[in-house]
Amino acid sequence: MRFSKLYLKTLKESPKEAEVISHQLLLRAGMIKKLASGIYSYLPLGKITLNKIEKIIREELDNAGCQEILMPVLQPAELWKESGRWLKMGEEMMRMQDRHNRDFVLGPTHEEVITDIIRNDIKSYKDLPINLYQIQTKFRDERRPRFGLMRGREFLMKDAYSFHTSEEDLDREYHNMYKAYERIFTRCGLNFRPVEADSGAIGGSHTHEFHVLAESGEDDILYCNKCDYAANSEKAVSNIELTQNDEAEKELTLIDTKNTSSIEDVAKFLNVDITKTVKAMMFKSILETETKYYMALIRGDYEVNEIKLKNAVNSPVELELITDEEFEKLSITKGYCGALKNISEDIYVVADETIKPMKNMVIGANIKDKHYINANINRDLKINKFYDIRMVKSGEPCPHCDGTLEIARGIEVGQVFKLGTGYAEALGAKYLDKNGKLQVMTMGCYGIGVSRTMASAIEQNYDEYGIIWPVSIAPFIVNIIPANMKNQTQVDLAEKLYKNFSETNIDTIIDDRNERLGFKMKDSDLIGLPIKIVVGKKSDEDIVEIKLRKTGETIEISANEVINKVR
Ligand code: ATP
Ligand code: MG
Ligand code: MG
Ligand code: MG
Repeated sequence: MRFSKLYLKTLKESPKEAEVISHQLLLRAGMIKKLASGIYSYLPLGKITLNKIEKIIREELDNAGCQEILMPVLQPAELWKESGRWLKMGEEMMRMQDRHNRDFVLGPTHEEVITDIIRNDIKSYKDLPINLYQIQTKFRDERRPRFGLMRGREFLMKDAYSFHTSEEDLDREYHNMYKAYERIFTRCGLNFRPVEADSGAIGGSHTHEFHVLAESGEDDILYCNKCDYAANSEKAVSNIELTQNDEAEKELTLIDTKNTSSIEDVAKFLNVDITKTVKAMMFKSILETETKYYMALIRGDYEVNEIKLKNAVNSPVELELITDEEFEKLSITKGYCGALKNISEDIYVVADETIKPMKNMVIGANIKDKHYINANINRDLKINKFYDIRMVKSGEPCPHCDGTLEIARGIEVGQVFKLGTGYAEALGAKYLDKNGKLQVMTMGCYGIGVSRTMASAIEQNYDEYGIIWPVSIAPFIVNIIPANMKNQTQVDLAEKLYKNFSETNIDTIIDDRNERLGFKMKDSDLIGLPIKIVVGKKSDEDIVEIKLRKTGETIEISANEVINKVR
């Protein structure tokens, strides 16, 4: 490549809105361009680096026995209703309708689609295990898109999904993928740490996140200074700090939904500041596929039929107040409270779409200083023990050895999950075992934020002059710079070197622009190219200067030897 032909517009100043260094430098180095909040184009240099990261991922996953596929971004809502995530995904999911008013989703993740493929194709244990992956654009309407590529609303993800006949086989593949991830992030030149993590909304029992350690990270990582124990702060909390709180449990049962007038209790429990005009009501909404129940706290004088609660679909749902008799029939025998959702200034939904009338149901709450664990979030909502939690601080003892925990900031670049049978069960992905018996498949899923990985490499590798790309993902490794474009001997030597380098596998660019040497050096450093070869700085015409971006080290060397030296 030639700088004279390269589509590149570098910026002197960093744009005001860019808070973190990767965002600033990606914009300044002309690698990405903003279209809208959390939505970026990749310009040539950015795309080359992205391709290099993808290539590393593909090589490692192919070697690990995975096969690449490509699934649609656009997905029918029916599939998400079937899995139960149409509502659960909430406002983070980008939704749209086609010309026939049919609901669609811009895929935030692809468990539903892959399971649909597999359930139709795989019939026998002989076809398992299988691990399929894709590198595809994902859409998530993040509450706070920010930090450039780190938290986009449209971003590039590698997602892999594996299917198994047993938990043991999933364990084996999980380990296989864990190892592949270590190789991928090592090859990308990153200082990272796998940490034990909580499974969050996706479900499943066992999961690790891969974190790139950087100050700008949004997560706290606790790691031991002696053994290899590491966990994200949530997991560290549940590993070490939980003590059962019987009080909380007692309090929980106080909230008896049979008695819709016990609103003060609910409000107290939820820490909601209520006035006397607050009412609690049970509602039902009839959705396309099922009836949902809501309990709402309402402030002010609303007529019931005036109240439209926004459901996760982002369109108002008309709610119908249910009578006490109807409510009795629901046989909700225990109290509950869902996460408090502020629907409008006057309406809080206490229990939302997670509520289904069933016997002995108790749902935990995410409330201040209380947490639930062991929630089987997929189908049956039976739990629950309440625990006091306290954030673990650095300096506390390691739960695994006599070392001490330290805290660091991390950027989540990847995650591996043991999903178990949840999705396969909901979507009916079954196979016939050796004895001809129908069995539910066991699943794993494995994600890498490809575009986030690119940003996090910068968070770890930069200085006051710009990016310092790890060699493996630098858009070009060598930049050949003729010092004086008016000196034909220099230009010829530079061109000759460029030709020679182009015949190697070392990605090389020549800065053949009619610009001053200082200007070219600055651009090269801003873009983060690992090696500059300056031609014509020395009076001896055959001597060139190799300058390393990372250390600033310079080596003078004869032009004939330069390729061997760089290798
Ligand atoms: P986070 O906790 O940062 O919101 P997540 O846990 O929701 O991420 P996953 O569902 O685990 O994300 O997706 C797999 C990977 O995709 C993540 O490990 C992360 O690297 C990347 N990723 C997730 N959300 C974004 C985003 N909004 N922008 C860029 N990359 C993302
Ligand atoms: Mg997220
Ligand atoms: Mg996460
Ligand atoms: Mg994650």
